[in-house]
Amino acid sequence: MARYTGPVCKICRRESMKLFLKGERCLSDKCGFERRPYPPGEHGRGRIKESEYAKQLREKQKVKRTYGLLEKQFRGYYQKAARQKGITGENLLRLLEIRFDDVVYRAGFAFSRPEARQLVRHGHFVINGRRVDIPSYRLKVGDIFNMAPGAKAADRIREAAGAASKAVIPEWLEIDSKNLTGKVTDLPTRAQITMPVHEQLIVELYSK
Ligand code: SF4
Repeated sequence: MARYTGPVCKICRRESMKLFLKGERCLSDKCGFERRPYPPGEHGRGRIKESEYAKQLREKQKVKRTYGLLEKQFRGYYQKAARQKGITGENLLRLLEIRFDDVVYRAGFAFSRPEARQLVRHGHFVINGRRVDIPSYRLKVGDIFNMAPGAKAADRIREAAGAASKAVIPEWLEIDSKNLTGKVTDLPTRAQITMPVHEQLIVELYSK
């Protein structure tokens, strides 16, 4: 599946927040947003008048870019969320949170979502004993995932798991960092999705 390959730090600057797309660099003083905390481009530091549409668009772009999706993929998630029972915005965030690459990142087995996506893509993880190399694979309650035996990136995954703070691992995951194993114990609730986002604005944008 296609993905964005352009400059990454510009995305954070455009969305006026750190999206943590570069792993360790994001926590260092080399972070592009820390250095230049204003939107890129000639008018980046100018006063920007935000229309209602602009606010909705920025919110949508922020979420879409955080999860590394292109427009068509993201719209597909929205349409699926709208067909589900419950609140569309919450459904949307939940669908994104239980993607396999996101779960690997949330479990602390990768330093960033883009890295988690690559690790999954290269077949470094298994779900319920079977190798799954599809980053968008949607996990279910009860699924157990772990590093594939003999994974070439084992050292890197161990390094990430060792550095991950227990505090950031969500309650709906049960993680054994030593054995690089995780289990989905529940589906995430809205309160457990900590990304600062007004998902209702995304729903308003797509409902027009
Ligand atoms: Fe965003 Fe990370 Fe780049 Fe900082 S270093 S601007 S958080 S991608």
